[in-house]
Amino acid sequence: MDNYDVLVIGAGPGGYIAAIRCAQLGMKTACVERWLDDSNTPALGGTCLNVGCIPSKALLDSSHHFEFINHQAAGHGITVKQAEIDVATLMKRKEKIVRISTQGIAGLFRKHKIDWFQGQARLRGERRVVITPLGHHPATETIVSANHIIIATGSVPATLPQATVDHQRIVDSTGALAFTEIPKQLVIIGAGVIGLELGSLWRRLGAKVIMLEALEEFLPAVDAQIAQEAFKALTRQGLDIRLRAKVTATEVASNEVSIYFEQEGTQHKLSVDKLVVAVGRKPNTEGLDAEASGLKLDPRGFIEVDEYCRTHVPNVYAIGDVVRGPMLAHKAMEEGVAVAEYIAGQHTSLNHETIPWVIYTWPEIAWVGKSEQSLEAEGYDCQAGTFPFLASGRARALGETTGLVKIIGDKETDRILGVHIFGPNASELIAEAVVVMEFAGSTEDLARTIHAHPTLSEAIHEAALAVDKRPLHL
Ligand code: FAD
Ligand code: NAD
Repeated sequence: MDNYDVLVIGAGPGGYIAAIRCAQLGMKTACVERWLDDSNTPALGGTCLNVGCIPSKALLDSSHHFEFINHQAAGHGITVKQAEIDVATLMKRKEKIVRISTQGIAGLFRKHKIDWFQGQARLRGERRVVITPLGHHPATETIVSANHIIIATGSVPATLPQATVDHQRIVDSTGALAFTEIPKQLVIIGAGVIGLELGSLWRRLGAKVIMLEALEEFLPAVDAQIAQEAFKALTRQGLDIRLRAKVTATEVASNEVSIYFEQEGTQHKLSVDKLVVAVGRKPNTEGLDAEASGLKLDPRGFIEVDEYCRTHVPNVYAIGDVVRGPMLAHKAMEEGVAVAEYIAGQHTSLNHETIPWVIYTWPEIAWVGKSEQSLEAEGYDCQAGTFPFLASGRARALGETTGLVKIIGDKETDRILGVHIFGPNASELIAEAVVVMEFAGSTEDLARTIHAHPTLSEAIHEAALAVDKRPLHL
């Protein structure tokens, strides 16, 4: 039986980063991963690389180019007679990007001498793990022991009993990233992060997209002013977002799917080509024998951990989507680093206050810290400054003037409490705000920082100046 210093279960961004960091710190490390791709080939990278962050952004970028050619190129004096989409090529490009990325992780494992096992891992007390290879018949179990075990088993799509995924007419996010043709009409249940990204993707390619959202409010976790601007812009683009919509039943026929829903007391029915269920994700502990091994799960199924990601069982840690906190790849990765360093006797903890969020619509929505409404609810005395991209020279040059930057500071100390961006390249712009907040910076720190001209980042500078009511270009 092999014995390792550390065994990591799951090779998503949490697990593979934890394994790399453990190996860097000199520990004998192994990783177990059960993923098999469409051609039954073992693949590393988890949800993020195979069916999440990477493929979704590859397709979003392709669809963004298509949208630019169709709607903006002419304004630049570029005329294209008729742009056409070849879905097979679009998907092949995405698959190639996924393959290069997952093979890249295998290369990193080789470089760091990390052993990896293909198969389903099951905990079996005494720091042992039973690995059952998948796709092998007969499956021969391997038992591996380790001084430390890191569980990084991620999450899976949440399901809706009234809209059971059949992988044909009713799909989850994985299915919606692999359509072989552009649906004429598409309904998405859930106007959250996944719904908005997938809705944007297929709308740009020509689908009529209707989104059914149960909540009254659009993106309640986002600063209300930003959410309102985003709602207006996305609706203007053609996303038909219906709030307070409760799906009661679905019916699949050979050529369509019907969705029955209730909105403000009225019953409605929609019949479309495809239905996407995007109502959240749930932690994945399936087949792990977690509770039998002494781990505790909270009422929502997350493995309970402390601030160092320690579970209730000594020397067993859990990170990423399977534990509390936002289900984000970069949060999983940083927990992987922190746990590896903790095991090595160093002490690193994650600052949950400065985890950035990005929603990859266009314009993009990005934020770090708290929204104005949550700060008010918590009784903070704060002040905000905003700056619209319409007033930015670079945004005008780009033809991307929708959106704004909003910075919120503590009235007394001026410390930055939240930065919210709806605008072009918000995903990249937010990094500056994360750094300033990580250093407990003030709005005045940002206002006194020289930003290159002409850049979109000047909008951050101006929003910081606007907190003190001295913007220069407004
Ligand atoms: P996962 O990536 O889910 O990896 C867990 C791995 O564990 C899987 O490979 C699984 O096969 C394996 N596993 C599970 N159980 C076992 C077992 N018993 N034995 C062996 N292996 C096992 N996040 C972002 O930050 N940015 C984005 O742009 C973004 N886009 C997304 C788009 C989509 C469509 C989706 C679905 C998600 C997206 N996410 C994004 C979320 C992101 O993918 C997750 O937060 C991230 O993958 C979590 O990493 P993880 O390592 O915790 O888990
Ligand atoms: P989400 O929580 O963001 O959105 C789900 C939405 O579905 C919510 O608005 C919810 O109110 C709604 N909903 C739930 N039940 C419903 C019902 N019965 N009828 C109608 N609406 C209903 O979850 P998601 O969009 O599925 O994404 C899951 C997670 O994956 C995200 O929270 C995020 O952590 C991660 N993710 C991140 C990114 C990114 O970072 N860009 C992209 C995709 C996914």
